[in-house]
Amino acid sequence: MSAVPIASSTPADTLRALGAQLFVRGWLSANNVLFPDSGEQGAAVVDSGYVSHGAQTLALLEHALGERPLARILNTHLHSDHCGGNAALLRRWPRARLSVPLGYAPHVRPWNAQALGFHAMDQRYEPFEVHGFLAPGNTVRLGPHDWEIHATPGHDPDAVVLFEPVTRTLISGDALWEQRLAIIFPELVGESGFEEAQRALDLIERLAPRLVLPGHGEAFTDVAAALSASRRRLDAFMAAPDRHHQYATRALVTYHLMAQRALPREALQHWITQTPVLRRAPGEHASAEDVKRFAEETVQRLIADGVVVEEGGVVRMAG
Ligand SMILES: [Zn+2]
Repeated sequence: MSAVPIASSTPADTLRALGAQLFVRGWLSANNVLFPDSGEQGAAVVDSGYVSHGAQTLALLEHALGERPLARILNTHLHSDHCGGNAALLRRWPRARLSVPLGYAPHVRPWNAQALGFHAMDQRYEPFEVHGFLAPGNTVRLGPHDWEIHATPGHDPDAVVLFEPVTRTLISGDALWEQRLAIIFPELVGESGFEEAQRALDLIERLAPRLVLPGHGEAFTDVAAALSASRRRLDAFMAAPDRHHQYATRALVTYHLMAQRALPREALQHWITQTPVLRRAPGEHASAEDVKRFAEETVQRLIADGVVVEEGGVVRMAG
């Protein structure tokens, strides 16, 4: 156990006591938390980034590990920005064992991309072999500490967070960010997610973390502020689910455009009309014409707001 005086320690002190390194990644990739020394069980990484960033993820881990092999890969949930590097890491370290949250068990053995939602979001992915499961209520040894596995449905029905009770550190995945609220995906396909997300925030509040290592953005310590911002946003979405669908559409279209770098405007609009989670945005019973108009308006709004630029019929991210 660590002798670090926890109350006064900085995030860097806490990470040192945990034997952890946080790699804060840019767009498309989720952060990675690496435990280079994990005793007998070997080095472990939590989340593996986006598929097209596989080489970058590999370089980061190889640099930090030196001669040590990566022995374990864990995913907080199976979204393409959190598990996209799994296949590349397993190719590089074929003896590494991959664990995903238990809720995905029926969908990864045998592999079912439809049920995993990759098709619904039309996100790129590379299938990977799963060797074990993270069961809520159990613990997993990472570095010198045992981390508790907690279920946090909402953003994704099967997502988990990892909590280390000595330093009170939380690896939150997409269940809690410092500034924004992640999309509540089940709601986009007519399933329940808002209440689950509320309960996930309540759970995190009860765990009372001192330090959060989120799936996106820097580590943060003002957990109360992050919780209340998330709850305000969630309340607003629950009061006006259309706004949540608009927010999700914007985020997913932006994500797709970043992954593709540039696209003919027509092709981006067509993609919106063909992507299951977006097709429902203008309403469950919208006609093909409504969906087409919604796609055109979405792209028009992104251009008007300066998020996206168009040149000669081709759109790309601004800046
Ligand atoms: Zn996610």
